[in-house]
Parts: sequence; C-alpha cells; structure tokens
Amino acid sequence: MSARQDIRHALKGYQDIKREMEICQKYGQDYRNQKGLKATIIDRLHPRQLELTVSEIITENDNTKTLRLTASGRALPAFLPGQYLSVSVQIDGVRTSRPYSISSSPTQTAYYDLTVGRVKDGFVSNYLLDEVKVGDTFTTSGPLGNFYYNPLFHGRKLVFLAGGTGITPFMSMIRTFTDQNLDLDILLLYGCRSVKDALFLPELAQRVERHPNFRFELVLSEPDSNDQGRRGLIDANLIKELVDDIAGTTFYICGPSAMQKFCTSQLESLGVKRRAIRREAFTAPGDVFDDPAWPQDVSADQPVTLYVQHPSGETVTIKTRVGEPVLTTLEKAGLIVPSACRTGECSMCRVKMTAGEVFQPSSALVRQSDRLLGYIHTCRAYPLSDLTLVIQ
Ligand SMILES: Cc1cc2nc3c(=O)[nH]c(=O)nc-3n(C[C@H](O)[C@H](O)[C@H](O)COP(=O)(O)OP(=O)(O)OC[C@H]3O[C@@H](n4cnc5c(N)ncnc54)[C@H](O)[C@@H]3O)c2cc1C
Repeated sequence: MSARQDIRHALKGYQDIKREMEICQKYGQDYRNQKGLKATIIDRLHPRQLELTVSEIITENDNTKTLRLTASGRALPAFLPGQYLSVSVQIDGVRTSRPYSISSSPTQTAYYDLTVGRVKDGFVSNYLLDEVKVGDTFTTSGPLGNFYYNPLFHGRKLVFLAGGTGITPFMSMIRTFTDQNLDLDILLLYGCRSVKDALFLPELAQRVERHPNFRFELVLSEPDSNDQGRRGLIDANLIKELVDDIAGTTFYICGPSAMQKFCTSQLESLGVKRRAIRREAFTAPGDVFDDPAWPQDVSADQPVTLYVQHPSGETVTIKTRVGEPVLTTLEKAGLIVPSACRTGECSMCRVKMTAGEVFQPSSALVRQSDRLLGYIHTCRAYPLSDLTLVIQ
C-alpha cells in the first residue's frame, strides 16, 4: 500500500499558518512550563482547606473566647466581612466540623479571629472553649458564605440586628467599614440578655465616638439592675423609632433562630421587603421539632437504621434515632461527608438517598434538582424511616 499523501499543502492558508507556528515556536512563550499555575493562584485566593494555628486566646466573658488563628508558611486568603470558616475537629474519636464567622477585619491580614460562645451541651463549642490551647492546629475551610455587604445592591443605609454571639459577623463588618471610612450609615441593634452577656462593648463605644456614621444601641431582655441599655426586644417599635428611612435601608439579621424569626416578622410588619432583609442562620439544629411541618405522630427517640453504601463497595449499617440529623449519625460512625454551614443552605453535605423518607425543614434550602435526583442535605435531614444512602 502506498504511503498516505500529505494533503495539508493543498489547503488554502496552510503555508501562512505553518510560518506563523514556526515564528511562535522561535519567539513565543512556551506555556507548557506554566502548567498548574492557574490552579496554584486559585488555591492561594480561594483555598479549599487551610491549616491554622491558635496563636492567642482572648477571654471575652465567662462563656466566650476569641481564638486568634494564624497560618504558617502562607498568607491568609482575603475574605468579605461576614464570611465564615468551617472548622474541623476530632473529639473523642469523632471527626466533625462547625462554622464560625470571622470576627476580625479582612484589613488585618495576619490572622483570623473566631469568637466562640458556649452552647449548653454543645459538642464543639465546649471543646473549643475548654480544651483548645495556644499552639493547637486546625484544618479549616477557606472563607465561605453569602452574608456580606454588596455595595451594588444594598445601598448605603445599613441596620444590623444582632443577637448574642450573632454579633461576630457584624464585628468584622463594623471594623472594616469604620477603619476604611466608607460612606455608609450604620446602625447596630444588639440584643442580649444582660450587659455581662454582651461582647465587644468597649470597642463598639469607641467606634461610635470616632465615627459619626456608626450608631449603636444595646437592647437587654433580662437586664441586671445596674445595666445601662434599652429594655426589651428588638421589635417594630424600636426599629421605627431609630430608623428614619426604613424603605431605603438594608437590614441584616444574625442570631438564634427564634430571634431571626421574630425580627423578620417585625420588619415585615413595617413593610420591609424580603429582598431588603439578609439573614445568617446561626443556630444548631436543635429546634426542628418546633417546626410546624414536623409530623406530630413521630417521636424523636423512634429507632431507625441507615444502610450506607460506601465508595469502597461496602455497605455500613448504622442504628440511630429519628431525632438526630443524618450528618451527625454518619460522623459518629466515622464516615466523612464534607460539610460547611450545617444549616441546610450550602449543600456541601448532600448525599444520595435511594430508599426511605426524611424530614427536611423549610429552612434547608434543598434545590429542586437535588429533590428530583434524590439528594438530601444531611445536616438538616432527619430520618422518618430506615434509609439507604450512597456516599460517592
Ligand atoms: C454561618 C455560621 C456562623 C457561625 N458563627 C458563629 C460564631 O461566630 N460564634 C459562635 O459561637 N457560633 C457560631 N455559629 C454557631 C456554631 O456553628 C455552632 O452551631 C455552635 O458553636 C454550637 O455548636 P456545638 O457543637 O457546641 O453544639 P451542638 O452539639 O451542635 O449542639 C447545639 C445545641 O443543639 C442541640 N442539638 C444538637 N443536635 C441536636 C439534635 N439533633 N436534636 C436536638 N437538639 C440538638 C444540643 O443539645 C445543643 O443544645 C455559627 C453558625 C453558622 C451557621
């Protein structure tokens, strides 16, 4: 058989292209030696994972500490004030994670501060407050979350409604916006039980003094007799009294879920549109049984079994109960499922369910495509029957 004829020479323009290729090979840049460069830059800006060391622990009050985290060997990636880190921990053999808002400002590039409040019987908060020492290291996610100020959509009049430790993302915003002297009009309404529970009071007072565009009101629900501050809850009357342009303001709420629900309804009663209310779900999933959609005839202690098909091909059988989120059960059994927000929003912990029924509260933002394809957000999915799950 004769050798194949090279027909390229017959194609119009071939000689020009060939010449151009020769010139490029001689004088151009060889991009092959930059393979992986883009991935390196992306990882520097938006790392999936960070190794951070506790460089300092600051006691804020009896039940709250700030852990100052630094990275050895790499610069801390930029973040938007209001974002959080998902912190991984190993406690009594169980690997789990919790999200914590960064309370420091991104203008401070040497460290991230996480301010952790104690939750009664809380698995991770008590560990972080009582066991962690300077020098300990954590694996965390990179900065995540959508609870931040967007100048294109949120205008220049901002009202922050904070409850308890829900002050943390606002501290990052307040520190940033006042340090940068941004042309914003900011009012912080900070709801706490009493003054001894309130965080960052001296710093907030100092910032109010220095920045005429920043105002702050402490609102105390169970004040001690000498406490200075307003009495009651952050409600429609207070907001009406302190905010003169309600229609032109963006409201941000961060705190326990009961406070979030209450403040949202108060804002709506004042005619505030949903799109002008931005919320960060802060609470652990302890309140699911109060959800009006929770099936009344199902008790939290009812036993159920999870059959979990593992990537290895093995099926793991786990006995659990209705009242425990699927993610917690999987973690207790030593199965690792990536997770971040643990409030049903970010969808990192989604897993395919091929049989069974789960309860997912309406606050779990499960996408229509996930529902159609049988994916559940395990952090906010409660088994109502035996389940078959596939971990990929
Ligand atoms: C985006 C984001 C940012 C956050 N930032 C901060 C922050 O800056 N500072 C801060 O202190 N916290 C923050 N949190 C809350 C934090 O992530 C943890 O939820 C908190 O520390 C409690 O964790 P824990 O492990 O101690 O409690 P958990 O063990 O999760 O328990 C919390 C409570 O819920 C109950 N509970 C847990 N599971 C169940 C269940 N299945 N059924 C019934 N009850 C249950 C427990 O008994 C306990 O009372 C943030 C949360 C989010 C979503």
